[in-house]
Amino acid sequence: MAEIINGKKLAKEIREKLKDKCDELKAEGIKPKLAVIMVGNDKASQIYVRNKSRVCDEIGIEFEEYLLDENIRQKDLINLIIKLNKDNTIHGILLQSPIPSNLDINEAFQTISPEKDVDGFNPLNVGKLCLNQDTFISCTPYGIMKMFEAYNIDLTGKNVTILGRSNIVGKPLIQCCLNKNATVTICHSKTKDLSKYTQNADILISAIGKSKFITDNMIKTGAVIVDVGINRSSDGNITGDVDFENVYNKASYITPVPGGVGPMTIAMLMNNVIKACSSKMNN
Ligand code: NDP
Repeated sequence: MAEIINGKKLAKEIREKLKDKCDELKAEGIKPKLAVIMVGNDKASQIYVRNKSRVCDEIGIEFEEYLLDENIRQKDLINLIIKLNKDNTIHGILLQSPIPSNLDINEAFQTISPEKDVDGFNPLNVGKLCLNQDTFISCTPYGIMKMFEAYNIDLTGKNVTILGRSNIVGKPLIQCCLNKNATVTICHSKTKDLSKYTQNADILISAIGKSKFITDNMIKTGAVIVDVGINRSSDGNITGDVDFENVYNKASYITPVPGGVGPMTIAMLMNNVIKACSSKMNN
């Protein structure tokens, strides 16, 4: 029977500490502020942005939302980011993805000032992560690393298999795990004989967005299972990539969905906003 990694509880503890740090900053005259840009009306994005706003409120971080029409021109999106870069009252800037496909998201991420890039998507910050230098680490991989730390799961010499190679989860996770001395394998939709890699994993991290895809025949006995997937069914239920009930007895640790990686992602975003306010404060 696996031990459940309680992301909800851990995230709450992190938020409480961040609230204290936020109060300290305010006492020094710094009012932490996050600006969030959303383009269009993507339903899931609206839920994510609402959650981020709620958690900002809880911690005492000011939240400023920029809702842009889906037909906005690239030039105007870039000009808004430049304006926010120059605004000294704003410490963190986040561009909620996805954005309409006619817009160039890479140019937008590259325009966000590296000092305000609380999502860690600016190429400079991505590069710093590769070099194992202090930087803003993108929030989902960062949250997963904090979970390992909290549950004393040492990655040294472990075989970590990551499913999914997106820029926001899979790719930064490679570096995070490598920086902790793991041997990392990354799989994607073109990977042949996927089970060969999942069965070899001491730690399996799935971020593919396929409901209950991982079953007990795909994992090693005693493996640590991290489920990043958020899959919404038509009846509103949320499931992960892992068939939790099926895998539970074979794993040593497992993250649930909901209540696992999700709350940690938001907590680490808040961590990055507070970090952006003062380079002197430890994170
Ligand atoms: P993307 O759609 O950007 O990437 C999905 C990745 O999974 C791709 O690399 C794709 O391969 C790979 N993939 C798809 N099907 C398979 C398969 N059958 N076998 C192996 N690999 C496969 O997704 P994201 O990274 O943005 O998100 C992944 C999941 O994580 C989603 O469910 C999302 O909602 C969730 N998520 C959760 C967060 C949280 O806080 N809990 C935060 C961010 C995301 P290829 O590259 O070849 O197409």
